Amino acid sequence: MNRVPHWIDGKPWEGVAERVGEVFDPATGAVSAQVDFAGPAEVDLAVAAAARAFPAWRDASLARRASVLFAFRELLNARRRELAEVVTAEHGKVLADAEGEVHRALEVVEFACGVPHLLRGGFSENASTRVDVYSIRQPLGVVAVVSPFNFPAMVPLWFAPLAVACGDTVVLKPSEKDPSAANLLAAWWAEAGLPEGVFNVVHGDRVAVERLLEHPDVRAVSFVGSTPVARHVYETGTRHGKRVQALGGAKNHMVVLPDADLELAADAAVSAGFGSAGERCMAVSVVVAVDPVGDELVERIRRRVAEVRVGDGRRPGCEMGPLVTRAHRDRVAGYLDAGVAEGATLAVDGRAHPVDGDERGFWLGPTVFDHVRPEMSVYTDEIFGPVLSVVRAPSYEEALRLVNDNPYGNGAAIFTNDGGAARRFQNEVEVGMVGVNVPIPVPVAHYSFGGWKASLFGDTHAYGPEGVQFFTRGKVVTSRWLDPSHGGVNLGFPRNH
Ligand code: NAD
Repeated sequence: MNRVPHWIDGKPWEGVAERVGEVFDPATGAVSAQVDFAGPAEVDLAVAAAARAFPAWRDASLARRASVLFAFRELLNARRRELAEVVTAEHGKVLADAEGEVHRALEVVEFACGVPHLLRGGFSENASTRVDVYSIRQPLGVVAVVSPFNFPAMVPLWFAPLAVACGDTVVLKPSEKDPSAANLLAAWWAEAGLPEGVFNVVHGDRVAVERLLEHPDVRAVSFVGSTPVARHVYETGTRHGKRVQALGGAKNHMVVLPDADLELAADAAVSAGFGSAGERCMAVSVVVAVDPVGDELVERIRRRVAEVRVGDGRRPGCEMGPLVTRAHRDRVAGYLDAGVAEGATLAVDGRAHPVDGDERGFWLGPTVFDHVRPEMSVYTDEIFGPVLSVVRAPSYEEALRLVNDNPYGNGAAIFTNDGGAARRFQNEVEVGMVGVNVPIPVPVAHYSFGGWKASLFGDTHAYGPEGVQFFTRGKVVTSRWLDPSHGGVNLGFPRNH
């Protein structure tokens, strides 16, 4: 049995865990590994290692940090397939999709390679007479990253490269469902020359997270996961005086206006609805068809869904893999009964979809509900599986109202050929990321990623310029070097002149 240990102070932890968890291969249903679950003592070891490493890493020159990042970038790029295979084996997403995840992670590493430029401060000569003012940004110390199961490589790398680039030291707590990618990353950071203790991994569940949230030496927490946990992490972390960014769940709408190219819209809805079996925080889970396009659009979606090849992500040609665990698969399948009971039309029943894989895998084919109404559970809940709901709306205004009334605000897309309508939508819609004829508008690495409302607690988005902001704190220096004109005692509040 493979064991997935913590990674503390530059090496795998050699202790014996009091609790462990099982890791599954979702395409076969088999247990593939046992992962250590950290208790407070192991978390404390990792935080202590990170705290010890901090002073020297804070003082490492920008050139040194950049050279480690470049080396890590080279390793990640050369081994992207290896990492993708590990992701597929534990998450279940198909290999091409896992490679896409690694590619997006690589982009963030590349952005972080520009750290000498990113950390340049400002300088104002003679801000007051013979007084110069300049700003610098400094690292925080030990930062914790808590990540979800659905992007076991990418989400840790939304944060760790920038934290490391900024001079912080990191304790990552990845999802216990697919933990192995984190250990590969840890080994590659070490190989790239990152000093011991700068990047640590503790595995486990909420017990480990609670300790990180309370630990006095953890200065900041970057969390990604479901909304109830994100809210809890935000409230608990901030109560303990930490800086917290907590990204939560989503219910992403794709509005299709009557003038849209319906072929493009149907392609997009199926790709964004069922890629990674719908286990993406930016998946499209609701298509809002503005009258009169509903029937035609649903027919086009239905034709495409029938062609989607569901199966073991390692097999060539498979486009959609299994769900991550049996429990999650069964929970998602429960929505198929609920949707029917609540009066939605089951346009495509995923339970009948053919599967190219072991029958013990956690399979559920792509499902489409039509005539969904906002009060139904298939609409209100984040299902996080291959279930696409189609809601009919009589007008643009009604479609927009639907999106804006939703408690989540991660992403939204509009499909139209009318530039004016698209511009109005991007102005009026209450979400953090908007796609215009783009169904999954995940920002490139030199912008920042984040939703609004129940999709993000805190005020700083992930990676890009806001990532740099999050992992540093500002300092402004006002300096005057003595010259013969210094003016003596003055008890008034300093004025600039
Ligand atoms: P999750 O909330 O169950 O778990 C996320 C992390 O928190 C894991 O590391 C887990 O071990 C830990 N955790 C779980 N319960 C906890 C608790 N009670 N207290 C403290 N820690 C706890 O999420 P998941 O199922 O792993 O991931 C799917 C969710 O993540 C979906 O809701 C999805 O929308 C969301 N997500 C959001 C984004 C985004 O950018 N907004 C990105 C990816 C995933």
